[in-house]
Amino acid sequence: MAIVKVAINGYGTIGKRVADAVDAQDDMEVVGVTKTGPSFGCEMAVRKNFDIYSTSDDPEVIRTFDNSPFECKGGLKELLAISDVVIDCSPGKMGEDNLRKYLDAGVKSVFQGGEKHSLTGLSYTSCANHMENFGAKTTRVVSCNTTGLSRTLVPLYEHCGSLKVECTMIRRAADPGDSKKGPINAIKPVLKVPSHHGPDVMTVKPEIEINSLAVAVPTTIMHLHAIIADLPEGHGLSTESVIEMWKETPRVIVMNGERNRITTTAEVMEMARDIGRKWGDLHEIFVWEDGVRLIGNRLYYFQAIHQESDVIPENIDCIRALMKIEENWENSVKKTDEAIARYYNI
Ligand code: NAD
Repeated sequence: MAIVKVAINGYGTIGKRVADAVDAQDDMEVVGVTKTGPSFGCEMAVRKNFDIYSTSDDPEVIRTFDNSPFECKGGLKELLAISDVVIDCSPGKMGEDNLRKYLDAGVKSVFQGGEKHSLTGLSYTSCANHMENFGAKTTRVVSCNTTGLSRTLVPLYEHCGSLKVECTMIRRAADPGDSKKGPINAIKPVLKVPSHHGPDVMTVKPEIEINSLAVAVPTTIMHLHAIIADLPEGHGLSTESVIEMWKETPRVIVMNGERNRITTTAEVMEMARDIGRKWGDLHEIFVWEDGVRLIGNRLYYFQAIHQESDVIPENIDCIRALMKIEENWENSVKKTDEAIARYYNI
């Protein structure tokens, strides 16, 4: 089996994590990562033995590496020339320009949730539409929020056959390493109603009817979702069986908040650090068992999303779909997650 050659364009919050996750797998390898110029992020790439390329093909930009401790192997074009697939982890809204470059180079591409579905006409979540992406040229792994919603709603939809959902996304204001965003002392509603987060689920599972509201709050560590789902008559579920369903669902953690004294997102993140997750990441969606309640046909629950990391393993499964390596999404998820656990010795 040929090893898939993966380029990471943009080695920031998401890029550095995807690079590690690719490096952990035995059916793919990182052939290079791009940086806009020499900076601390290059140091990390060097420690991992990842070759560094410039995000630009402009010789002047490439030359900025000349008097730095970091060797730049060339521009993006040169990296694409040795790649089978590129994971675009550039800041959002650069997709249009970048997609053109990837198509010109004849390289498959995976974008992130900062880009619109219309860029690729196709989106990806492992549990929702792996096979729809099989062999595709380009796609988009949906955002952290949409990934989180899909993880718990898709199994529910598959049991019930229909689902109407309203949710409120209580969003972190900025990532922990970000000093430019806010608010720092306010709650900021997203005044575009409904927000794009819920409806974005329909790009991977159009059968789920869903709308959302969103507010940004002064926290950096996680998003929290408050979800109300209306199940159809005859759903045959109880609070307990919904909890059991999610306990069996890959990349979902269900824990009793009161019993485990994990009643806030701060304690969820502390748990992720305690169990040795690199960067304190939590790839799984965290559901509070004692916050789940089914009353008649209406299901209420809360879930917490680690925004910087839940999409990371999805990118790996997505590469397997695009490169036609694995048809069964559950097999891919298992392979991805086991390899990452081995890589970090967790
Ligand atoms: P980031 O700002 O942390 O990293 C982006 C990286 O791209 C930086 O290293 C930057 O130097 C580099 N870059 C700048 N210009 C570039 C160019 N022209 N070409 C390639 N790279 C360039 O951003 P991020 O948080 O990693 O976000 C990347 C994508 O992932 C966005 O689409 C974002 O919406 C999405 N996403 C982010 C999160 C999150 O919580 N951070 C979660 C899910 C999805």
